[in-house]
Amino acid sequence: METVKEYFGSLVFDDRVMKSMLPADVYRSLRKTIDEEKKLAPGVADAVAAAMRDWAVAHGATHFTHWFQPLTGVTAEKHDSFISPSPDGGVIMEFSGKELIKGEPDASSFPSGGLRATFEARGYTAWDPTSYAFIKGKTLCIPTAFCSYGGHALDKKTPLLRSMEALNRQALRILRLFGNDTAKAVRSSVGPEQEYFLVDKALYDQRYDLRFTGRTLFGAKPPKGQQMDDHYFGVIKPRVEAYMQELNEELWKLGILAKTEHNEVAPAQHELAPIYTTTNAATDQNQLTMEIMQKVAARHGLVCLLHEKPFAGVNGSGKHNNWSIATDAGQNLLSPGETPYENAQFLLFLCAVLKAVDDYQDLLRISVATAGNDHRLGANEAPPAVVSVFLGDELNAILDAIENDTPYEGVEKQQMKLGVHVLPRFNRDTTDRNRTSPFAFTGNKFEFRMLGSSNSIACANIMLNSAVAESLKIYADRLEQAEDFETTLHEMIRKTIRDHKRIIFNGNGYDDAWIKEATEQRGLLNYRTTADCMPHLLDQKNADMLLSHGVFTEPELRSRCEIMLENYCKTILIEGATMVTMARGQILPAVERYTADVASRAMVKKTLDASLPCAYETGIVAKLSALTDAIAAGTDALEDVLRGAEETGDYFAQSAAIRDEVLTAMETLRASCDEAETLTAKEYWPFPTYADLLFSVQ
Ligand code: ADP
Ligand code: MG
Repeated sequence: METVKEYFGSLVFDDRVMKSMLPADVYRSLRKTIDEEKKLAPGVADAVAAAMRDWAVAHGATHFTHWFQPLTGVTAEKHDSFISPSPDGGVIMEFSGKELIKGEPDASSFPSGGLRATFEARGYTAWDPTSYAFIKGKTLCIPTAFCSYGGHALDKKTPLLRSMEALNRQALRILRLFGNDTAKAVRSSVGPEQEYFLVDKALYDQRYDLRFTGRTLFGAKPPKGQQMDDHYFGVIKPRVEAYMQELNEELWKLGILAKTEHNEVAPAQHELAPIYTTTNAATDQNQLTMEIMQKVAARHGLVCLLHEKPFAGVNGSGKHNNWSIATDAGQNLLSPGETPYENAQFLLFLCAVLKAVDDYQDLLRISVATAGNDHRLGANEAPPAVVSVFLGDELNAILDAIENDTPYEGVEKQQMKLGVHVLPRFNRDTTDRNRTSPFAFTGNKFEFRMLGSSNSIACANIMLNSAVAESLKIYADRLEQAEDFETTLHEMIRKTIRDHKRIIFNGNGYDDAWIKEATEQRGLLNYRTTADCMPHLLDQKNADMLLSHGVFTEPELRSRCEIMLENYCKTILIEGATMVTMARGQILPAVERYTADVASRAMVKKTLDASLPCAYETGIVAKLSALTDAIAAGTDALEDVLRGAEETGDYFAQSAAIRDEVLTAMETLRASCDEAETLTAKEYWPFPTYADLLFSVQ
């Protein structure tokens, strides 16, 4: 059997393959494009295409596809085979530079939010040489950007790449000011920790809600949930272990550094974390990881649920976006460092992040907004919808000392003059372990914890990169003009701390008292739902910032806002319709059958002996009769508001109607159905219960 070392990355056209298969000058030129974002030199594409084809065919591939990330949230691909007829009646395998660089899929069925009228079906995909091609099944997949005929981005990759460029530009300016003349590029890196649930496929198949919406829309709480905390880091069950093992192998072959796996807090919940890599590649790899998680699950008779809240009453699933920025030479700019200038530079980058998160709280909230994630952020579950930053006691004390010009009581008692004094050596382990913060500094990176488990990490990182680029730009503009660099730097850092310390919060983020303090005293934003936050994408300050860094064009921004709202509306309308179907077609008949059986058993008893009290039966029949009436009424009411919402004008109005009316009607209906479940004999209940689902995989 091959060892991991031997098969790792075997399905990736990675640096090793490029080096061995490309002519030396082509390889050098391509590396320049990858490492320094230089334009692709002519002729390179043809040579790369030929090498890719030979390599892919040798690995059994027959097709190629431009693999892209439209705004649907999943990835898309259209396969073409390599074959081309040869004069002798046979075929040859062909793949040209032109085919590598550009594709023209029919774009008419992808969401464009008005960017492209459907009759103008043309869309383009363009090769992204900074993300390695790979083989999936029999297909060579080429990561690409996707745009409209008019050149507007219709995908998530394009703005992500633009945001990385913006960050690179501004961060390099800062580095130059600190005397770093050698760094060629600055890039953000991400390690996304991915949570998921596993349930048995046979049970899943019996529930319309899971199949149609990815989450349970009904279900009484099981007697046992996560109260005992016995699942977190618990022993991994054999079936899950077999799944994880195969998943790791598949990911490793694709060069994905799957590293950590463990059980999560809720029963049936697990986590997978890869080793971090450049944001662009991390984004592609996370999309691929989610896809493979689902595929491998199917081979094990399981279903991998990536929904943010598959079950009420137990934790939902998120994705932690561990984010840092580093130079091409590998210097992590969020690492405190040990010499004075590195410290000052670190503090400036730290301040840039604080300022960015405070100034663009709304964009960060928007970047993770979906109907599914609202169940986590808006509810009493970690993290809250209010964005704040956790720094830890030590860093907090340092910032305090700078702000107030007071001695820092850390390792040495000294005045914190930047660039002059050495920061006390910073102990990584004293930070973090605050699991409730939406945005926590963890020693040399920030962990953004608001992402939903099914979110593409592109959106969060687009906003994060852009907002930090904006802070850095403001700093660089000032410092480049400064007469006295050190004084200006010191003043700027102090000012940032003063202006933005309201965003720093080191306490318990789940606490109701915090939400009150955050919103009432600190003036932080609290957008509970997607319908609340999404329209603010178009606020002048947000549009100005994103446009000025070239991350979005104005029409792109508008289209995104519309698509996200449309997505929110459609998701909930489908959930509502599914509830109506299940309540009418399954729950009501089941409860009726059970009620009638209980009633007829009471009648049988009464015919035997009219004096028997039959209190048990009478009680159940009374309660269930009341509940069936409530369920029937609740179903009608839900159907009414669904119809009303569907007829509401644009997506702005529709999303508000859904938030205000549909969600409430869904909750009401669910409450009576869940209560009926607890009174109905298990054998009558028409689909698997929470207890069945959550403890189904051994
Ligand atoms: P946790 O204690 O938060 O569960 P883990 O070690 O499981 O932490 O995961 C942390 C994630 O952060 C991993 O994906 C890891 O590769 C990533 N990570 C570590 N260092 C950095 C860094 N400098 N930049 C970005 N991500 C990082
Ligand atoms: Mg973590």
